[in-house]
Amino acid sequence: MSAVKTASIGRITENKQNGNCLFGQLPFFFIGKGFCEMKTETIAAIATGMTNSGISVIRISGKEAILVADRIFHAKGGRKLAEEKTHTIHYGTICDGDEVIDEVIVLLMRAPRSYTTEDTVEIDCHGGMYVTKKILETVIKYGASPAQPGEFTKRAFLNGRIDLSQAESVMDLIQAKNEFARKSSICQLSGILSREIKNIREAILHEIAFIESALDDPEHISLEDYPQKLHNIVDNLSIRLDKLLASSDNGKLLKEGISTVIVGKPNAGKSSLLNTILGEERAIVTDIAGTTRDVLEEQIQLDGILLNIIDTAGIRKTEDIVEKIGVDKAKQYVDKADLVIYVVDSSTALDENDEEIMELLREHKVIVLLNKSDLETLTTEREIRLRMGDNKQFCAVLSVSAKCRTGIEDFVKTIQKMFFQGEINMNEEITITNIRHKTALQEAISGLKLVEQSICDRMPEDFYSIDLMHAYESLGSILGESVEDDLVNEIFSKFCMGK
Ligand code: GDP
Repeated sequence: MSAVKTASIGRITENKQNGNCLFGQLPFFFIGKGFCEMKTETIAAIATGMTNSGISVIRISGKEAILVADRIFHAKGGRKLAEEKTHTIHYGTICDGDEVIDEVIVLLMRAPRSYTTEDTVEIDCHGGMYVTKKILETVIKYGASPAQPGEFTKRAFLNGRIDLSQAESVMDLIQAKNEFARKSSICQLSGILSREIKNIREAILHEIAFIESALDDPEHISLEDYPQKLHNIVDNLSIRLDKLLASSDNGKLLKEGISTVIVGKPNAGKSSLLNTILGEERAIVTDIAGTTRDVLEEQIQLDGILLNIIDTAGIRKTEDIVEKIGVDKAKQYVDKADLVIYVVDSSTALDENDEEIMELLREHKVIVLLNKSDLETLTTEREIRLRMGDNKQFCAVLSVSAKCRTGIEDFVKTIQKMFFQGEINMNEEITITNIRHKTALQEAISGLKLVEQSICDRMPEDFYSIDLMHAYESLGSILGESVEDDLVNEIFSKFCMGK
């Protein structure tokens, strides 16, 4: 199958040669979605989860969806779906010949008012996996083909109902693990990112058109003073793109979580603290030093922030082989982490093991938690600050008590301050959460920088068009224009079955 293809600068030249390249005739320049060769076969898949549940949904989409459904669906009133209006619900049975397979409700959505824009029939059946699979088998037996993962959404994209960034947001929404991920994907699905990208692209295209027209018709269209004007326009567009790009750092952390490692000497209270934050007894808590032998991974949600927490073995010099493996691993995790939480038992004095840990953390973002604040204090914030003094990254020291559950709020606020410059805005702002989009934005920005450079270097105007076109195409890839079939296939192959 061929995905969306577009012409590039070659197409402009072609139009120019045909004499169509006059300023104001933007349609001649307009690089649209190009052709897309569609699969016309009718596909079907189970759209709900692969476990027993109350109901399951089997989705059929394509030119023959209604015909296939009519071969197996017997409506109570005896009417065929082909006679029914779009967006109607029908009660009846699914049969293979004379054999009744299940009692179902069927939803009929005629093209183009459906998810894929094709004729679509959804069968709501009883949710047992056996009966659901049996219905799918029957649908396939009577004329549909099994759908590939993500094929329904791929059709919605290839049929032009949504662009590629919206299609990607469907998968993000399904995989959302927290409120931020849900909000940002639903925002992207609504087309808010696409609109901003389209507006910026239109502005770029307008300038390309102007330059090409002026070069074609220098007698009537002057380029005098134009470079300075273009410089200002490109500058403004770059600011808008930079803003989008800047959102990607927060976006990634909010969507995927902050990789966090808890370190500290045995018995400092790491496991207890993790349990306090998690609100349940996950790690084994004991007062025999060195119990947490391997690492323990947990995902926790703190006021919308996702922490991927790794509890490590207590770091100390040890002869115990099993424990040593855990200690070495802890050091490796620290090096990869976005954040290290260093738990200190404030009721005991610091020793050479603490010195070793602090040495290990010198180049990392650290929150030192002085735990056991309910007991008499032997290690103070001042002491920690003195020893951690030359930490180049952010370092905060807080008093907490895992036992009394105190200090956790300050801990959350500190994380917000460290990673999100204060309050996290989860509202209408566009946030880039997709690495593909981030790369495309970076390319577009560098294209615009080259335009500015060419202007400063007083290069001929056609140089501007080439780099403007590069920026235009890079942004187009976010929407799914100028992208290769392989990439489209790869994106949709990551979708779940039936979506
Ligand atoms: P880890 O080895 O660092 O994971 O330490 P644990 O979480 O297993 O805790 C070691 C001991 O310290 C246990 O007996 C805990 O009950 C105790 N403990 C942990 N946090 C606190 C605290 O805030 N106050 C007091 N008094 N005891 C604590």
